Amino acid sequence: MNPGRADLHAELLRLFGYREFRPNQQEVIDAVLARRDVFVVMPTGGGKSLCYQLPAVVLPGYCVVISPLIALMKDQVDAARANGIRAELLNSSQDPAQRAAALAAFSGNGHPGDGPGVDLLYVAPERFSDAAFTSLLTQRPPSFFAIDEAHCVSEWGHDFRPDYLRLGELGATYPGIPIAAFTATATHKVQRDIVERLRLREPHVVRASFDRPNLRYAVVPKSKEAAQILSFVRERPGVPGIIYRATRKKVEQTAASLQADGIRALPYHAGLNDAVRAENQERFQRDEAEVIVATIAFGMGIDKSNVRYVLHGDLPKSLEGYYQESGRAGRDGEPADCVLLAGGGDVATARYFINQMADPDQQARASRALAEMIRYSGSIGCRRTQLLHYFGEQYSAPAHPGCCDVCAGEVRSVDITRDAQIVMSAMARTGQRFGVGHIVDVVVGSDSERVRSRGHHLVKTWGVGADKPAPHWRRVIDSLISQRLIEQTDEKFPTLRLTESSREVLAGERSVAMAEFHTVRAGGRTRRSRMDGDDVRVIDAPETQRLFEQLRALRKQIADEQGVPAYIVFTDRTLRDMAERRPCSMDEMAEVHGVGKEKLARYGERFAKAIALD
Ligand code: ADP
Repeated sequence: MNPGRADLHAELLRLFGYREFRPNQQEVIDAVLARRDVFVVMPTGGGKSLCYQLPAVVLPGYCVVISPLIALMKDQVDAARANGIRAELLNSSQDPAQRAAALAAFSGNGHPGDGPGVDLLYVAPERFSDAAFTSLLTQRPPSFFAIDEAHCVSEWGHDFRPDYLRLGELGATYPGIPIAAFTATATHKVQRDIVERLRLREPHVVRASFDRPNLRYAVVPKSKEAAQILSFVRERPGVPGIIYRATRKKVEQTAASLQADGIRALPYHAGLNDAVRAENQERFQRDEAEVIVATIAFGMGIDKSNVRYVLHGDLPKSLEGYYQESGRAGRDGEPADCVLLAGGGDVATARYFINQMADPDQQARASRALAEMIRYSGSIGCRRTQLLHYFGEQYSAPAHPGCCDVCAGEVRSVDITRDAQIVMSAMARTGQRFGVGHIVDVVVGSDSERVRSRGHHLVKTWGVGADKPAPHWRRVIDSLISQRLIEQTDEKFPTLRLTESSREVLAGERSVAMAEFHTVRAGGRTRRSRMDGDDVRVIDAPETQRLFEQLRALRKQIADEQGVPAYIVFTDRTLRDMAERRPCSMDEMAEVHGVGKEKLARYGERFAKAIALD
């Protein structure tokens, strides 16, 4: 007999100290208790573990929990035990004595009067290739299987683990034992894939809303990223936060610069040795360090509920990834910030890497994912609406400042109807067969060989946009793509195409706006002195490298004219910074490392012009 609702509430209070179920928990628990297969999609922090822990206690016998990360298993076991739930784990990290102890505890389980036994037995998927283990399960069948992080079975997901494929055989090997699968991965495609690969039998599907009302989303244009990150963290002294960076090197640089400022920040990436990584995670988890600076290697299953912000220093690879990573903030339901620094050379760098991909399918996927990210970061509409739309959900609550920067009126937009028409017309006149770089070349009137050889210096739109720099036109194009007013193909060399909506813009029937690109900082004033030594940038994108070389040539020319050594004009570091940021106004130029008032007045215009012509 299943316990009634009142009993479940009593158990909830007894085991966990909670008076109410979170949305969907009770529905999941009811289905598990009714011995059905269950498939649960719930966002991070939604309270998935309780959905199998509570039935594991209520049902006779025990539940086998399959979880992908051995490193996190111990925490999960400790957390369950802290609630008085009898939990053990079996995995390859144990020594023989630990394993024997776990098995002894387990063996006490099964029949009334058999001793303490366990409620939860945590195992990694590879355990199912161990004959001793599988025969143990046959002798002492569990009441149900709980598969955590079930998206690991799907190659469409972002954490595919081949060992998970084996779990598709559970139903056949242990007939009659229900399976409950849990994931926070939200797309319908992954969902279908999981149900199929795990061979769930007419599962009861529970799909929670992906809205996280306590998270506030914002995008800040990236200008001086190191200084922006520092000032952001300084404004939140002692507050736990996660900073994601795209590369190990950037992780190290950011962590070092924060440490130099007296902030307790620790790095986390796959290049650190296991012990250091585990220790850093542990110290963050225990609030001994307030900030963890990490690559996306950090996070799956991290159980720290009081993370108050997640700051992305670089553009994530996909909106799904962004949602999951930023979702590590505010698991306790208290307000938290999800801030993305977007811009700089990130889109160009991402495009460069996508172009290098050998597998066309992978390339097409990466390209689509990038387009989603551009759409999100360049949006002039509510960010929450956009995120939820991506997961197939409608968000219709009225705009409020706690929702996102757009709803709070922090993102201003500018009318770019005429610029949109110029771009579209350049695309039309060159036969819609070219990518972003070439269209920009045509619009700004580049005299390059590539343009001449195709006769594109003769088209009517050639040079019509020469009054604005190339980066402006790239932003216009990104914004048009993001608003679906033009399309970018998924080919190896993506080309730009007009759409039905483009015709409306060209015909003057529709106006276009884009988010104003302003160089506000992520809060407050910045102090630069300490950052100087650390703020060394890596030049990734070939476009940046090319521009850097051009700026060096200009510096040589100026130095020769004045009879001074080149470094007196600008240092390499300044030129690198300039090549990366592509300042398009004197204000932006003044933001470049090493450009003071004097040098701005002397050289600013000449360098800005060189950048504009690039
Ligand atoms: P998930 O695995 O879905 O990311 P967890 O199971 O780790 O989420 O739960 C997130 C937090 O929410 C935990 O601290 C958990 O104790 C808490 N929690 C779960 N259910 C409830 C509830 N009904 N009431 C209050 N807090 C809850």
